[in-house]
Order: sequence, then structure tokens, then C-alpha cells
Amino acid sequence: MKALSLFKEGDLRLIDVPEPIPVPGALLLQIEMVGLCGTDLNSFRGRNPLVTYPRILGHEIAATVLEGTAKVPAGTRVTVHPYTHCGQCASCRRGRPNACKNNQTLGVQRDGALTERLYMPEASVYPSEMSFQELALVEPLTVGFHAVARGRVTPDDVVAIFGCGGIGLGAIAGTASRGARTIAIDVDDAKLRTAQAVGATDLIDAATENVSDRLRSLTGGHGPDLIIEAIGLPETFRMAVEEVAFTGRVVYIGYAKEPVAYETKLFVQKELDILGSRNALREDFISVISMLEEGHFPVDAVISAKVTMEETPGILSSWANTPSAFTKIMVDLRKSRPSSAESTQESIP
Ligand SMILES: [Zn+2]
Ligand SMILES: [Zn+2]
Repeated sequence: MKALSLFKEGDLRLIDVPEPIPVPGALLLQIEMVGLCGTDLNSFRGRNPLVTYPRILGHEIAATVLEGTAKVPAGTRVTVHPYTHCGQCASCRRGRPNACKNNQTLGVQRDGALTERLYMPEASVYPSEMSFQELALVEPLTVGFHAVARGRVTPDDVVAIFGCGGIGLGAIAGTASRGARTIAIDVDDAKLRTAQAVGATDLIDAATENVSDRLRSLTGGHGPDLIIEAIGLPETFRMAVEEVAFTGRVVYIGYAKEPVAYETKLFVQKELDILGSRNALREDFISVISMLEEGHFPVDAVISAKVTMEETPGILSSWANTPSAFTKIMVDLRKSRPSSAESTQESIP
């Protein structure tokens, strides 16, 4: 069967691989669609410190069960929990397996889903009758939803989100779904419009507006109750603690490539809660699936391009050359399969 394997930085190849080895008790999945995000782009550019080569990419997954169980029979549509947890480390013992010290994410520390078939444990799939592109959007949205859960967002909060890329959009959707006022900040006008479609109530264009002035005028001079940083630049890491309200919360999802110098007195003077957020929990997957099942999420607005497996190396090169050109790329594996009535059953809306 076919698979897309990253041999080294910039070298993604469509190769033939053996059929997966049956795992007792596991489901055999036919992979239908896989989303690509900034993590895959970083792996492709040689900027993901966690990835090793060669690696089959793919962790944002829509699939159909080929060999099922009584609970999840053949024919069920699913998305996949791409993380593992060891059950032994401090995070696992605290009931926070999303931050497992020994986590292995599909497509990063172990081979992923950009292949035709894959065995997955029943406990790692989430059945839902949504479209394949919605199923492939679940995982990237959970990362933002988890950050919103870490930030303990309530309807009384004013939340500012720095960055309206794939991760930021999930945080915006999560904040909006909790009924909080949601300020989206980006330098890209198109991304801000998408943020609005996803649920942002206020927009700040950091390319043309003074972010600090706008945040104060939107919050009666106090600053936001919570700032979620989803960019990963030293400036925005610092800005989050500078602009957040006294006794506010800051949640970091990304990480800056270089060390960040802080005015540490702000941590104390404002008595801030500064939190990291990594991956997502099962409950975040369930929240995102219910949100998407309501059918209001602007799925098409967040997908920048849809490609076949054959077209994927080329589009990743274009993305590497122009990182701002894409937010979410969907690889439609159905188009690379020998055609059958079943494989073309769902047309892309
Ligand atoms: Zn991703
Ligand atoms: Zn663990």
C-alpha cells in the first residue's frame, strides 16, 4: 500500500510499504482524509525537534472502520486519538495523560496515518457520522479547546487570542462556545475574517492597529482576563503577561524557538496564573465533536487546500516557501485509491 514518508528535511516521498501487521483486539482503519498542520510543516522543514526520520506523517485523521468490534463495527466513521500515554509518569499519575512524558504522537515519534490502512486500539477512536473533512478537523481543534479548558474560561471572561492559525482558531471556537467575549489578534486580514466566522467577537489587526491600545479600550482599561498565546514568538510571549489584567491568566500553547526575557515583577505584581497547554484530553475530543456535530462551524473557511497523496510533497514545499499561504491542508486519500463505488460515496461539499 502507499504511504507518504519524510526521509529527511524537505524530502517527502510517496512510497510502497507493507500492509500493517494485525494487532489483536485492534480495529483496522481505512484512512480517508488527513489534515496537515504547522507540526507537519515544521517536521518537513527540519524544525520539529521531536520528529525522527524516516517518518510517515499524519496525525489529524478521518477513517472508516474496515475490521471492527461489537462496539465499533465495520463501516463506522471515526477520528483518532493520535497520542499515547505510559500510565507511569507524573502526568499520567495525575490524570493528565495529554502531557505524558513518554507520549508518542502519530506522525511525529511513531509512523502516522498518511497511508492507506492502519490498526488502532478501540479506545483510541471516536465514532461520529460527520463528514470526513470534519472528522479530520477534530484533533487540531482539540488543542485550542484544551488551552481554553486550562484557562478555565467562563461566560464572564474577556479572552484575547494571539494568533489565528490552526491552533488559534480552535482556541477561538472553544472560547466562543463557552460564551466568553473573544478578541482575535493577527497580522493577516484573511485569518482575522476566518476568526470572526469561527466565533471571535472583536478583531485586532496587529499589522495596522496598536494591540495594547485596542485591548485596553475593549476591556475598560483592565486588559483581558485571559490571554492565550498561539503564535510562539518572544514578543507575543512577553506581550501576554504585559497586556493581561491583574490576577488574570495566561495560557501558552506554542513555544518560542529562542529564550524569552521577561519583566518578572509582572508575574508577582499581577499575581498571574501562567499555564502551559499540551495536546488534548479525551474530554476535549468529545467537546470538539459535539461542537462540530451542531453544524455551525465554518469548515470550508478553515481549509486552505485539498490535495491528493501524489500532490502532497509539492504543496508542502510551497507551504515551506510561503508559511503564511496556508492554514490547513487536507490530503484526500480516497483520490489515490483504485476507484470503487464505495470510495467515491461522499463527495466533498
Ligand atoms: Zn496537527
Ligand atoms: Zn505517562
